[in-house]
Amino acid sequence: MKNSTLVKKYILGENSISHLGHFLSDHRKDNNSVIVFCIDHFFESHQIIDKLPIESNDITLFIDTTDEPKAEYIDELVDKIKTEKEYLPKAIVGMGGGSTLDISKAISILLTNPGKAQDYQGWDLVKNKSIFKIGIPTISGTGAEFTRTAVMTSSVKKLGINSDESVFNQVILDPTLTKSVPNDQFFFTAMDCFVHNVESLRGSQNDELTIAFAEKSLEMMRECFFEKMNHEKLMVASVMGGISIANSNVGICHPLSYGLSLVLGLHHGFAICVAFNQLEEYYPEVKEFKEFMSNSKIKLPKVVDETVSDDQINKMADATLKNDRPLENAFGKNWREIFTKDKVIELIRKM
Ligand code: NAD
Ligand code: ZN
Repeated sequence: MKNSTLVKKYILGENSISHLGHFLSDHRKDNNSVIVFCIDHFFESHQIIDKLPIESNDITLFIDTTDEPKAEYIDELVDKIKTEKEYLPKAIVGMGGGSTLDISKAISILLTNPGKAQDYQGWDLVKNKSIFKIGIPTISGTGAEFTRTAVMTSSVKKLGINSDESVFNQVILDPTLTKSVPNDQFFFTAMDCFVHNVESLRGSQNDELTIAFAEKSLEMMRECFFEKMNHEKLMVASVMGGISIANSNVGICHPLSYGLSLVLGLHHGFAICVAFNQLEEYYPEVKEFKEFMSNSKIKLPKVVDETVSDDQINKMADATLKNDRPLENAFGKNWREIFTKDKVIELIRKM
Protein backbone atom coordinates (compact mmCIF):
# COMPACT_ATOMS: atom_id res chain seq x y z
CA MET A 1 0.00 0.00 0.00
CA LYS A 2 1.32 3.42 -0.93
CA ASN A 3 0.16 5.94 1.68
CA SER A 4 1.79 9.33 1.13
CA THR A 5 2.81 12.07 3.55
CA LEU A 6 3.40 15.69 2.63
CA VAL A 7 4.82 18.71 4.43
CA LYS A 8 1.83 20.53 5.93
CA LYS A 9 3.07 24.09 5.79
CA TYR A 10 5.53 25.95 3.63
CA ILE A 11 6.17 29.48 2.48
CA LEU A 12 7.89 30.40 -0.76
CA GLY A 13 9.48 33.62 -1.93
CA GLU A 14 12.48 35.93 -1.79
CA ASN A 15 13.39 36.85 1.79
CA SER A 16 10.74 34.51 3.23
CA ILE A 17 13.39 33.59 5.81
CA SER A 18 12.46 36.84 7.55
CA HIS A 19 9.35 35.03 8.86
CA LEU A 20 11.40 32.48 10.80
CA GLY A 21 11.02 34.41 14.09
CA HIS A 22 7.25 34.38 13.66
CA PHE A 23 7.18 30.60 13.14
CA LEU A 24 9.27 30.11 16.28
CA SER A 25 7.24 32.46 18.49
CA ASP A 26 4.78 29.76 19.62
CA HIS A 27 7.76 27.68 20.77
CA ARG A 28 9.32 30.43 22.84
CA LYS A 29 6.46 30.91 25.32
CA ASP A 30 8.23 29.26 28.29
CA ASN A 31 10.97 31.18 30.08
CA ASN A 32 13.61 28.54 29.52
CA SER A 33 12.68 27.46 25.97
CA VAL A 34 15.59 26.44 23.78
CA ILE A 35 15.70 26.35 19.99
CA VAL A 36 18.45 24.36 18.27
CA PHE A 37 19.75 25.84 15.02
CA CYS A 38 21.53 23.29 12.77
CA ILE A 39 23.21 25.37 10.10
CA ASP A 40 25.54 24.28 7.28
CA HIS A 41 29.10 25.31 8.17
CA PHE A 42 29.31 27.43 4.99
CA PHE A 43 27.18 30.05 6.78
CA GLU A 44 29.37 30.27 9.90
CA SER A 45 30.96 33.53 8.83
CA HIS A 46 28.08 34.68 6.63
CA GLN A 47 26.17 37.88 7.37
CA ILE A 48 22.87 35.97 7.39
CA ILE A 49 23.71 34.56 10.85
CA ASP A 50 23.26 38.01 12.41
CA LYS A 51 19.78 38.24 10.88
CA LEU A 52 18.52 34.90 12.28
CA PRO A 53 16.30 35.07 15.39
CA ILE A 54 18.85 33.26 17.60
CA GLU A 55 18.53 34.07 21.33
CA SER A 56 21.07 33.70 24.15
CA ASN A 57 19.53 30.49 25.53
CA ASP A 58 19.51 28.78 22.08
CA ILE A 59 22.04 26.28 20.74
CA THR A 60 23.70 26.86 17.38
CA LEU A 61 25.40 23.88 15.72
CA PHE A 62 27.39 24.50 12.56
CA ILE A 63 27.07 21.25 10.64
CA ASP A 64 30.21 19.92 9.01
CA THR A 65 29.11 18.76 5.55
CA THR A 66 32.57 17.80 4.29
CA ASP A 67 31.26 14.25 4.43
CA GLU A 68 27.61 13.34 3.97
CA PRO A 69 25.66 12.44 7.16
CA LYS A 70 27.12 9.67 9.31
CA ALA A 71 25.03 8.08 12.06
CA GLU A 72 27.88 8.50 14.61
CA TYR A 73 28.11 12.24 13.87
CA ILE A 74 24.37 12.59 14.46
CA ASP A 75 24.71 10.72 17.79
CA GLU A 76 27.52 13.11 18.79
CA LEU A 77 25.36 16.16 18.03
CA VAL A 78 22.44 14.72 20.01
CA ASP A 79 24.73 14.06 23.00
CA LYS A 80 26.05 17.61 22.78
CA ILE A 81 22.52 19.04 22.95
CA LYS A 82 21.59 16.76 25.87
CA THR A 83 24.74 17.71 27.80
CA GLU A 84 24.29 21.41 27.23
CA LYS A 85 20.63 21.61 28.39
CA GLU A 86 18.82 19.43 30.88
CA TYR A 87 15.43 20.10 29.24
CA LEU A 88 14.32 19.26 25.71
CA PRO A 89 14.54 21.92 22.98
CA LYS A 90 11.18 23.26 21.82
CA ALA A 91 12.13 23.37 18.14
CA ILE A 92 14.88 22.48 15.66
CA VAL A 93 15.76 24.67 12.70
CA GLY A 94 17.68 22.97 9.87
CA MET A 95 19.27 25.31 7.34
CA GLY A 96 21.48 23.94 4.54
CA GLY A 97 21.54 21.35 1.76
CA GLY A 98 20.25 17.79 1.87
CA SER A 99 22.95 16.78 4.39
CA THR A 100 22.06 19.42 6.98
CA LEU A 101 18.32 18.98 6.47
CA ASP A 102 18.61 15.23 7.00
CA ILE A 103 20.79 15.69 10.10
CA SER A 104 18.26 18.07 11.64
CA LYS A 105 15.40 15.66 10.90
CA ALA A 106 17.35 12.86 12.62
CA ILE A 107 18.21 15.04 15.64
CA SER A 108 14.54 15.94 16.12
CA ILE A 109 13.77 12.22 16.34
CA LEU A 110 16.69 11.13 18.51
CA LEU A 111 15.99 13.74 21.17
CA THR A 112 12.69 12.03 21.99
CA ASN A 113 13.50 8.41 21.10
CA PRO A 114 16.02 6.24 22.98
CA GLY A 115 19.10 4.63 21.42
CA LYS A 116 21.25 5.60 18.47
CA ALA A 117 20.59 6.91 14.97
CA GLN A 118 21.38 3.57 13.34
CA ASP A 119 18.61 1.89 15.37
CA TYR A 120 16.05 3.80 13.31
CA GLN A 121 17.47 3.27 9.81
CA GLY A 122 14.66 1.53 7.99
CA TRP A 123 10.92 1.98 7.66
CA ASP A 124 8.59 3.22 10.41
CA LEU A 125 10.77 2.27 13.38
CA VAL A 126 10.25 5.58 15.25
CA LYS A 127 7.85 5.25 18.21
CA ASN A 128 7.75 8.68 19.88
CA LYS A 129 6.76 12.03 18.41
CA SER A 130 9.74 14.06 17.23
CA ILE A 131 10.41 17.70 18.09
CA PHE A 132 8.80 20.46 15.99
CA LYS A 133 11.14 21.30 13.14
CA ILE A 134 11.56 23.89 10.42
CA GLY A 135 13.53 23.16 7.22
CA ILE A 136 15.24 25.87 5.21
CA PRO A 137 16.97 24.52 2.07
CA THR A 138 19.98 26.44 0.76
CA ILE A 139 20.64 24.32 -2.36
CA SER A 140 18.00 23.00 -4.77
CA GLY A 141 17.82 19.44 -5.97
CA THR A 142 17.60 16.67 -3.37
CA GLY A 143 13.98 17.30 -2.38
CA ALA A 144 15.02 16.48 1.23
CA GLU A 145 13.04 19.54 2.33
CA PHE A 146 9.79 17.72 1.55
CA THR A 147 10.47 14.00 2.05
CA ARG A 148 9.87 11.63 4.98
CA THR A 149 13.40 10.26 5.03
CA ALA A 150 16.61 11.36 6.75
CA VAL A 151 19.45 9.71 4.84
CA MET A 152 22.62 8.64 6.69
CA THR A 153 25.44 6.13 6.56
CA SER A 154 26.20 3.95 9.58
CA SER A 155 28.91 1.32 9.96
CA VAL A 156 26.44 -1.18 8.52
CA LYS A 157 24.44 0.62 5.82
CA LYS A 158 23.46 3.79 3.95
CA LEU A 159 19.75 4.03 4.63
CA GLY A 160 17.35 6.70 5.79
CA ILE A 161 15.10 7.02 8.81
CA ASN A 162 11.86 6.64 6.86
CA SER A 163 9.09 7.91 9.11
CA ASP A 164 6.34 10.50 9.28
CA GLU A 165 8.37 11.88 12.20
CA SER A 166 11.11 12.84 9.69
CA VAL A 167 8.80 15.30 7.91
CA PHE A 168 9.40 19.00 8.59
CA ASN A 169 6.45 20.76 10.27
CA GLN A 170 7.26 23.95 8.39
CA VAL A 171 9.43 24.64 5.34
CA ILE A 172 10.77 28.01 4.27
CA LEU A 173 11.65 28.15 0.57
CA ASP A 174 13.73 31.29 0.10
CA PRO A 175 15.52 31.34 -3.27
CA THR A 176 17.89 34.13 -2.19
CA LEU A 177 19.70 31.54 -0.04
CA THR A 178 20.79 29.39 -3.00
CA LYS A 179 22.64 32.20 -4.80
CA SER A 180 25.94 31.59 -3.01
CA VAL A 181 26.27 27.91 -4.03
CA PRO A 182 29.43 27.39 -6.18
CA ASN A 183 28.66 26.54 -9.83
CA ASP A 184 29.76 22.88 -9.76
CA GLN A 185 27.93 22.02 -6.50
CA PHE A 186 24.87 23.92 -7.75
CA PHE A 187 24.88 21.79 -10.91
CA PHE A 188 25.47 18.42 -9.22
CA THR A 189 22.66 18.88 -6.67
CA ALA A 190 20.26 20.21 -9.33
CA MET A 191 20.94 17.14 -11.47
CA ASP A 192 19.89 14.93 -8.55
CA CYS A 193 16.43 16.41 -9.15
CA PHE A 194 16.68 15.89 -12.93
CA VAL A 195 17.54 12.22 -12.38
CA HIS A 196 14.78 11.76 -9.75
CA ASN A 197 12.30 12.91 -12.39
CA VAL A 198 13.70 10.74 -15.17
CA GLU A 199 13.85 7.64 -12.97
CA SER A 200 10.34 8.22 -11.69
CA LEU A 201 8.91 8.71 -15.20
CA ARG A 202 10.77 5.80 -16.82
CA GLY A 203 10.05 3.30 -14.03
CA SER A 204 7.01 1.08 -13.61
CA GLN A 205 6.15 2.09 -10.03
CA ASN A 206 4.84 5.60 -10.80
CA ASP A 207 1.22 6.77 -10.88
CA GLU A 208 -0.64 9.78 -12.31
CA LEU A 209 0.34 11.97 -9.36
CA THR A 210 4.06 11.14 -9.42
CA ILE A 211 4.06 11.52 -13.22
CA ALA A 212 2.41 14.95 -12.98
CA PHE A 213 4.97 16.19 -10.44
CA ALA A 214 7.95 14.76 -12.36
CA GLU A 215 6.81 16.12 -15.73
CA LYS A 216 6.28 19.64 -14.39
CA SER A 217 9.56 19.50 -12.49
CA LEU A 218 11.42 18.47 -15.68
CA GLU A 219 9.78 21.28 -17.63
CA MET A 220 10.95 23.81 -15.02
CA MET A 221 14.47 22.38 -15.02
CA ARG A 222 14.65 22.68 -18.80
CA GLU A 223 13.62 26.32 -18.55
CA CYS A 224 16.34 26.90 -15.93
CA PHE A 225 19.18 25.14 -17.75
CA PHE A 226 18.29 25.86 -21.40
CA GLU A 227 16.73 29.32 -21.15
CA LYS A 228 17.34 31.39 -18.01
CA MET A 229 18.28 30.34 -14.50
CA ASN A 230 15.54 31.15 -12.02
CA HIS A 231 16.39 30.15 -8.44
CA GLU A 232 12.77 30.14 -7.28
CA LYS A 233 11.72 27.91 -10.17
CA LEU A 234 14.55 25.47 -9.44
CA MET A 235 13.57 25.40 -5.78
CA VAL A 236 10.02 24.42 -6.73
CA ALA A 237 11.33 21.85 -9.25
CA SER A 238 13.36 20.29 -6.39
CA VAL A 239 10.27 20.02 -4.17
CA MET A 240 8.20 18.50 -6.97
CA GLY A 241 10.95 16.03 -7.94
CA GLY A 242 11.24 15.07 -4.27
CA ILE A 243 7.51 14.40 -3.97
CA SER A 244 7.56 12.40 -7.19
CA ILE A 245 10.49 10.17 -6.28
CA ALA A 246 9.38 9.68 -2.66
CA ASN A 247 6.12 8.21 -3.94
CA SER A 248 7.53 6.14 -6.82
CA ASN A 249 11.08 4.82 -6.94
CA VAL A 250 14.52 5.52 -8.30
CA GLY A 251 15.87 3.47 -11.21
CA ILE A 252 19.30 2.49 -12.56
CA CYS A 253 21.32 5.61 -11.80
CA HIS A 254 20.80 5.79 -8.01
CA PRO A 255 21.95 2.18 -7.33
CA LEU A 256 25.11 2.81 -9.40
CA SER A 257 25.72 6.09 -7.55
CA TYR A 258 25.39 4.30 -4.16
CA GLY A 259 28.23 1.97 -5.21
CA LEU A 260 30.39 4.97 -6.18
CA SER A 261 29.61 6.79 -2.91
CA LEU A 262 30.21 3.72 -0.76
CA VAL A 263 33.55 2.69 -2.25
CA LEU A 264 35.02 5.98 -3.48
CA GLY A 265 33.31 8.32 -0.99
CA LEU A 266 31.76 10.48 -3.73
CA HIS A 267 29.04 12.96 -2.71
CA HIS A 268 25.52 12.12 -3.82
CA GLY A 269 24.94 14.75 -6.55
CA PHE A 270 28.40 14.26 -8.06
CA ALA A 271 28.06 10.45 -8.02
CA ILE A 272 24.65 10.81 -9.71
CA CYS A 273 26.19 12.90 -12.51
CA VAL A 274 29.12 10.48 -12.99
CA ALA A 275 26.73 7.51 -13.25
CA PHE A 276 24.00 9.18 -15.33
CA ASN A 277 26.59 10.34 -17.89
CA GLN A 278 27.08 6.65 -18.89
CA LEU A 279 23.42 5.64 -19.08
CA GLU A 280 22.44 6.84 -22.55
CA GLU A 281 21.42 3.31 -23.64
CA TYR A 282 18.72 3.31 -20.91
CA TYR A 283 17.72 6.96 -20.62
CA PRO A 284 17.45 9.19 -23.74
CA GLU A 285 17.51 12.19 -21.35
CA VAL A 286 21.28 11.69 -20.95
CA LYS A 287 21.65 13.66 -24.21
CA GLU A 288 19.93 16.65 -22.57
CA PHE A 289 21.98 16.19 -19.41
CA LYS A 290 25.14 16.51 -21.51
CA GLU A 291 23.82 19.75 -23.01
CA PHE A 292 23.05 21.05 -19.49
CA MET A 293 26.66 20.21 -18.55
CA SER A 294 28.07 22.06 -21.49
CA ASN A 295 25.79 25.11 -20.89
CA SER A 296 26.89 25.18 -17.23
CA LYS A 297 30.58 24.67 -18.20
CA ILE A 298 30.85 21.48 -16.15
CA LYS A 299 33.41 18.82 -17.08
CA LEU A 300 33.21 15.48 -15.30
CA PRO A 301 36.54 13.85 -14.44
CA LYS A 302 37.07 10.11 -14.90
CA VAL A 303 36.67 8.69 -11.40
CA VAL A 304 37.13 4.98 -12.09
CA ASP A 305 40.73 5.30 -13.27
CA GLU A 306 43.84 3.08 -12.95
CA THR A 307 44.05 3.80 -9.19
CA VAL A 308 40.74 1.95 -8.63
CA SER A 309 41.32 -1.78 -8.07
CA ASP A 310 39.31 -4.71 -9.45
CA ASP A 311 38.30 -5.48 -5.88
CA GLN A 312 36.84 -1.98 -5.48
CA ILE A 313 34.97 -2.29 -8.79
CA ASN A 314 33.60 -5.61 -7.63
CA LYS A 315 32.38 -4.01 -4.38
CA MET A 316 30.71 -1.19 -6.32
CA ALA A 317 28.91 -3.71 -8.53
CA ASP A 318 27.71 -5.70 -5.50
CA ALA A 319 26.48 -2.52 -3.78
CA THR A 320 24.60 -1.57 -6.97
CA LEU A 321 22.95 -4.96 -7.33
CA LYS A 322 21.66 -4.95 -3.75
CA ASN A 323 19.01 -2.40 -4.77
CA ASP A 324 16.41 -4.83 -6.02
CA ARG A 325 13.37 -2.55 -5.72
CA PRO A 326 14.78 0.31 -7.81
CA LEU A 327 16.16 -2.16 -10.37
CA GLU A 328 12.81 -3.94 -10.56
CA ASN A 329 11.21 -0.51 -11.05
CA ALA A 330 13.57 0.09 -14.00
CA PHE A 331 13.68 -3.34 -15.69
CA GLY A 332 10.77 -5.39 -14.36
CA LYS A 333 10.70 -8.54 -12.23
CA ASN A 334 13.33 -10.36 -14.32
CA TRP A 335 15.85 -7.52 -13.85
CA ARG A 336 18.63 -9.92 -12.78
CA GLU A 337 18.62 -11.51 -16.24
CA ILE A 338 18.95 -8.10 -17.96
CA PHE A 339 21.17 -6.11 -15.60
CA THR A 340 23.90 -8.67 -14.97
CA LYS A 341 27.00 -8.14 -12.85
CA ASP A 342 29.13 -8.13 -16.03
CA LYS A 343 26.98 -5.34 -17.45
CA VAL A 344 27.25 -3.34 -14.21
CA ILE A 345 31.05 -3.74 -14.19
CA GLU A 346 31.23 -2.65 -17.84
CA LEU A 347 29.30 0.54 -16.97
CA ILE A 348 31.35 1.24 -13.82
CA ARG A 349 34.63 0.93 -15.77
CA LYS A 350 33.46 3.73 -18.10
CA MET A 351 32.75 6.15 -15.21
P1 NAD B 1 25.03 19.02 0.89
O1 NAD B 1 24.03 19.37 1.92
O2 NAD B 1 25.84 17.78 1.10
O3 NAD B 1 26.01 20.27 0.70
C1 NAD B 1 26.99 20.25 -0.34
C2 NAD B 1 27.93 21.44 -0.21
O4 NAD B 1 27.26 22.66 -0.50
C3 NAD B 1 28.52 21.59 1.17
O5 NAD B 1 29.88 21.87 1.02
C4 NAD B 1 27.80 22.83 1.74
O6 NAD B 1 28.62 23.52 2.66
C5 NAD B 1 27.56 23.63 0.49
N1 NAD B 1 26.43 24.58 0.58
C6 NAD B 1 25.16 24.35 0.98
N2 NAD B 1 24.40 25.45 0.81
C7 NAD B 1 25.20 26.41 0.34
C8 NAD B 1 25.01 27.77 -0.05
N3 NAD B 1 23.79 28.33 -0.03
N4 NAD B 1 26.07 28.45 -0.49
C9 NAD B 1 27.30 27.87 -0.58
N5 NAD B 1 27.55 26.60 -0.25
C10 NAD B 1 26.50 25.86 0.19
O7 NAD B 1 24.37 18.92 -0.57
P2 NAD B 1 23.06 18.26 -1.18
O8 NAD B 1 23.44 17.79 -2.52
O9 NAD B 1 21.91 19.22 -1.07
O10 NAD B 1 22.74 17.04 -0.22
C11 NAD B 1 23.26 15.74 -0.40
C12 NAD B 1 22.71 14.83 0.66
O11 NAD B 1 21.28 14.77 0.55
C13 NAD B 1 23.20 13.39 0.57
O12 NAD B 1 23.56 12.93 1.84
C14 NAD B 1 22.02 12.63 0.03
O13 NAD B 1 22.02 11.28 0.44
C15 NAD B 1 20.88 13.40 0.66
N6 NAD B 1 19.58 13.25 -0.01
C16 NAD B 1 18.49 13.20 0.79
C17 NAD B 1 17.23 13.06 0.25
C18 NAD B 1 16.03 13.00 1.15
O14 NAD B 1 14.92 12.84 0.67
N7 NAD B 1 16.19 13.11 2.44
C19 NAD B 1 17.05 12.99 -1.15
C20 NAD B 1 18.19 13.05 -1.94
C21 NAD B 1 19.46 13.20 -1.38
ZN1 ZN C 1 19.04 11.43 -5.35
